[in-house]
Parts: sequence; C-alpha cells; structure tokens
Amino acid sequence: MRGNPCYLRAMPEERPRDLAAEARKLPKADRLLAAADRAGFVARLGHAPVMELVRSALEDARERVMAGEACPASEEIEETLLRRLGGEARGALRRVVNATGVVLHTNLGRAPLSAAAAAAMQAAAGHVNLEYDLEAGERGDRYGHAAPALCRLTGAEDALVVNNGAAAVMLALAALAEGTPARDGQPPGPAPGAGADLPEVIVSRGQLVEIGGGFRVPDVLRRSGCRLVEVGTTNRTYARDYEAAAGPATRILLSVHRSNFRLSGFVHDATLAELVELGRRLGLWVVEDLGSGALLPTAPFGLPPEPTVGERVRAGADLVCFSGDKLLGGPQAGLLVGRREAVARARRHPLLRALRVDKVTLAGLAATLAHYERGEAAAQVPVWRAIAQPVEALSARAERWRAALAGAAPGAEVRDARSAVGGGTLPEVTLPTRVLALPSPDPDRLSARLRAGDPPVVGRIEEGLLLLDPRTVLPGEDEALVAAVRAALVVP
Ligand SMILES: *Cc1c(COP(=O)(O)O)cnc(C)c1O
Repeated sequence: MRGNPCYLRAMPEERPRDLAAEARKLPKADRLLAAADRAGFVARLGHAPVMELVRSALEDARERVMAGEACPASEEIEETLLRRLGGEARGALRRVVNATGVVLHTNLGRAPLSAAAAAAMQAAAGHVNLEYDLEAGERGDRYGHAAPALCRLTGAEDALVVNNGAAAVMLALAALAEGTPARDGQPPGPAPGAGADLPEVIVSRGQLVEIGGGFRVPDVLRRSGCRLVEVGTTNRTYARDYEAAAGPATRILLSVHRSNFRLSGFVHDATLAELVELGRRLGLWVVEDLGSGALLPTAPFGLPPEPTVGERVRAGADLVCFSGDKLLGGPQAGLLVGRREAVARARRHPLLRALRVDKVTLAGLAATLAHYERGEAAAQVPVWRAIAQPVEALSARAERWRAALAGAAPGAEVRDARSAVGGGTLPEVTLPTRVLALPSPDPDRLSARLRAGDPPVVGRIEEGLLLLDPRTVLPGEDEALVAAVRAALVVP
C-alpha cells in the first residue's frame, strides 16, 4: 500500500517528481539481502524471515521519503536491518535478568530452575524411558517417575502430574464428579445416571476466586461438567452451610486456597478437617485447590504460615491440587496428591490424555523433588534460595554493583526496599532487601533501555528511581547485569 501511486497523486503539484526521484535512491532489496547474508543471518534464520525484514526495512524507509524526508543513506537502512535481524536471531523467548525483586514473577516465567533440574531436562531431550520399563523391556508408566517422591514428601498414598495447576483442578473435579468414594465398607457409588442432575460441587462464596490468567473457580467447575453450589457468605462460611446444601447430586466439597488476596476482620472458614469429617459422613469427596503448594514450612523464612501440602494431605483431603512452578520451585506442572482411590480415578479419566505432561517437565520436576528429599531445598531450589537470602548478603551484592558502576552511574546508591514473593502466593507479604537505586532524569526511558539490552534487565521504578533488587538476580548473573546497566546508561 505504501508508495502507491494514488498516494503520490494526493501530494502537492511539484512534489511527486521529487518524491519519486528520492524513492529511486532507496537501495535494492538484493543489496540488503546480500548484506544480511554476509553477516550470516540467512544461514541462521533462513531466507524467508530475512526477506520479510528486508522488505519491512525498505518500506519504513520509503514511508519516510513519502513523508517528505530525504532518502536515508543505504548504510543507515542496512544498519537498521542488521540490528533488527540481530534481535530476531536472539530468539523470541530470551533469557532475562529479573531484578524486580518479585521472586515468582509470572510474566518472567515464574520459578527459575536449579542447575540439577536444568541438567535433567537437557538430558531428557533425547530418548528416555518415559513409558518404558527397562527391567522388563516392556511398556511402563509415564506417571511412575515423580509419584514415589511426591508421596514420600507429602505423605500421600498416590500422586499424578499434569500440565499445570489449573489442569490439576479441572481433572480432579471431572474425575471425582463421576462417582462417590468407597467408605466404611461401602462400595464406591456410580455416576449420576442418564437424565439425572449434573453432579454438584459445593464451594464457599468466600473462595470463588480468580487466580489470574483467566482461571476463575466457577468457570473451571462448569467446564469440568459440574454444577456449582455456592454456600455461606463472602466473609463467613461454616461446615453446617455445606451440610445444609448437600443433596443427592452432590459429589464434591471443594476448598480453594485464597492464594492471591486476603480476607481479614469478621471472617470464618470451615476448616479442611471439618470438611473431611462431613465428607466421610455424607459419602462425598473432599478436594483442595491449594495453589502454591509449599513443601517447606514458610515460617522459618520469616514469612507468614502457608499451609504445606503435607498438612493438607494429613488433614484427610481426597485430592490436593497445586502448581509445580510456584513455591515448589520446579517447572510448570500441576500436581494431584492424595488418596489412592481418588488418584486412580484421575489416572483413568480420559481428560488426562489431553492434560498429560511431557518428558522434559517430568525430568525437571523429579530433579527438583530430589532437592527436597536430600534436605537441601532451601539452598538448592532457586525460589527458596532467593527467599532465604539474608539482608547483609543482598546489601553486599548491591554494593558490589554500585562499585562496579561507579564510573557510569555516579549518583547510584544502595538503599532499603522490599522484595515480594509474587506468583499469586503470599499476597501483601514483603521481605526486607537492599537495592541499587539508579537516579535518572527519565526513569521510564532508562527502564526501556535496560529492557532493550543484552541480556534484557527488568527492574522496577519507585519514587522516580530505577531499582535493581539482587534478591531475584540469579547467582552468576552479576557480571552480565553490570555490563547491561553500564551499556544502558551510556546515552547515545
Ligand atoms: C495458581 C493457582 C492455580 C493455577 O495454577 P497454575 O499452575 O497457574 O495453572 C489454581 N488455584 C490456585 C488456588 C492457585 O493459586
């Protein structure tokens, strides 16, 4: 469309000739393509992507000419093209230095993985015994790889791994809604017969939460083929509310952990133990959507208590669902742990095929769980290592950055600030930290330059200062961070 003759006709009388003459000075596509080829981009990216950028570089230049500017020098167009190709070659998904101080930053990929987890995932890139029993030489169980460790770490009878926390909840509801548990010598009950009401799931009004990324408990429930029965009020729900609402179509009592917000004041929730007692008495499943799924107690880290998976399993929930990449600190995954019969139903459900987890994830998860089994999680799982960093260590690191940048950022100073856990866990909880504060006449621009760097560095702006928090910068990233900051501070 650009450079269309109609466009020219709309210009003032004597302009068209000038513009056309200028436009003829634009370099030929072939010349730009040859430059890209000499720089090795055709070999790295392939012909078509390079040609697309060549055309767009030429179009941009032509647009400037049509707007009345002089034709840019061929060298300038070439340089722009090579810069864009460089960006493309670094790949769409890039390593980023997280200097935000948000430990579980969902937009930055949540939990960073340990070296052992990364190595295990790399090793799983080839052929693995994913569904192959090496001893027997026959088909094995994909889900057998992480389950024993999950059972040992949580006290559960059985465990299952799917793609993410949302998938775990969906599968738990879909699978358990199809029947009732076997209890006290009673055989398990059937699914509600044809023509019967949809199976019902009872949830407290205070727990009908939205987690983010479009995960809303009422919607997930409906998609799982269940009918939602709300009980209680926003702030107070009692066990007797669940009991009063339970009818012949009821299958599940669902408890949802309020991961990302707090209720305070005149508040009451039925405890999980009360729901378990009620479930036993009425022959109903009890499912807990726990969200962050801490395997370690949080209090020793100076955090408010967060229920651990083991506590919830011990409280007697049939299934506890949680994420692999929140406080567990592993790859994106959804875990279901709990009673044998309940996990077996989830494993048999046809939905599992659509939610199943891949070999690379399983390898990373197993390696992450191994850190917990060896009792080294606080030191080896990056999420916990970041949370556990003492202020003195953070301060010393920020001071080292300041010293290294003294020439480039003379006004930089180390000051007190707060880091957050994030990832929809531990809302409003912050940890004391020490950050490097960069003064700038235009902090938004500095922030943009840092994001455009190599590697991109993401910080945060507070009170007109750009803050870089060492808590979330991985060990070994200091040099890259300092170099990237120095480059961003050099005003072109
Ligand atoms: C985070 C969360 C989920 C969703 O888990 P994903 O792994 O993000 O899919 C579901 N329920 C609760 C309570 C959560 O906190």
